[in-house]
Amino acid sequence: MKKENIIIIGGGPSGLGAAIYNARAFLDPLVVAGSPPGGQLMLTSDVENYPGFESILGPDLIEKMRQHAVHFDVRFVNENVARVDFADPENLKLWLADGSEYSASSILIATGAGAQWLNIESETRLRGRGVSACATCDGFFFKNKTLAVVGGGDTAMEEALTLTTFAAKVYVLHRRNEFRASQIMQKRVLEHEKIEVLWGTEVEEVLGEQRVEGVRLSFANDSSRAKVDGNTLKIDGLFVAIGHTPNTGFLQNSGINMNEKGYIISSGMFAWEKMHRKDFNVSDNGYDFAWQFATNKKGVFAAGDVVDYVYRQGVTATGMGVAASLEVERYLAEKKT
Ligand code: NAP
Repeated sequence: MKKENIIIIGGGPSGLGAAIYNARAFLDPLVVAGSPPGGQLMLTSDVENYPGFESILGPDLIEKMRQHAVHFDVRFVNENVARVDFADPENLKLWLADGSEYSASSILIATGAGAQWLNIESETRLRGRGVSACATCDGFFFKNKTLAVVGGGDTAMEEALTLTTFAAKVYVLHRRNEFRASQIMQKRVLEHEKIEVLWGTEVEEVLGEQRVEGVRLSFANDSSRAKVDGNTLKIDGLFVAIGHTPNTGFLQNSGINMNEKGYIISSGMFAWEKMHRKDFNVSDNGYDFAWQFATNKKGVFAAGDVVDYVYRQGVTATGMGVAASLEVERYLAEKKT
């Protein structure tokens, strides 16, 4: 079996950005791009915030990145990783879903994270047509409109506040009578003149044929029920902010440190978490803080949305992938000397 210099796991912007850089450094990277490949941008319609493109469809942007990588002879396998063995840093191993085995001197994990959805039929049907999971990406399309955000965590607070830049009015629909978001974020939302919170409220159906026209709600809170005429709230867009799930299931038993939600704790995130969270009690065993994108397993790096639960943008994921690829390049060069 050929031992690869670098295997990049993930075919989204982070993995593809890394692959282009590693290929141009003559490292001959192999990308295990997943099945189906491409990540979250494959589910996005118009992208207007990727520098260099005033407007481009998410799948077209990924296709351009992939062609760019192929131009520099990057090799691709469109398969998912089933399991890994990172016990020996000189021989990092992984097995794909089809049973094939690979080994490498370094690994970059860039498998991303997926938004959680309410999983109702009308939400799926109207995704990209008024239903979104990214206010920074799509808020611009809703100037002076009425919008709603579902959720009560920090992401929902951030989404609602972001949307106030564009919208005339933003409802926050939360299923309980208290938020789980940090106090400071709650305060900003509760004091914002454009935001109205409907406590104890759940979305039963998203209304509209071609585009979102409203939501049918159910209520566990009488004062919220009294505010909404006939259980139907007229809105132009629905932003679902009920959490994300990082794609790290294949890392179970790998020894890679992850937080309680399954996000990989890279060396950079370790330092950030230690500064920000009083209850952070992960051991620094295995980390080398000479790097920002290393994991606690030597030779294994991680970047993009599988690490970053704060920014979650195509551009930031690409940038992190590139920065990680430069660290991989240095790591491999230092190993040789
Ligand atoms: P989260 O904290 O897990 O909150 C998810 C919210 O969605 C909860 O309020 C939950 O309601 C609600 N929810 C979940 N499933 C639902 C469903 N099926 N229907 C309706 N509501 C549902 O997720 P998050 O807000 O994405 O945050 C994830 C982590 O990232 C947190 O640790 C957060 O602090 C962090 N974060 C930090 C920043 C920042 O520092 N700037 C920004 C964003 C996120 P319940 O409350 O009833 O469970």
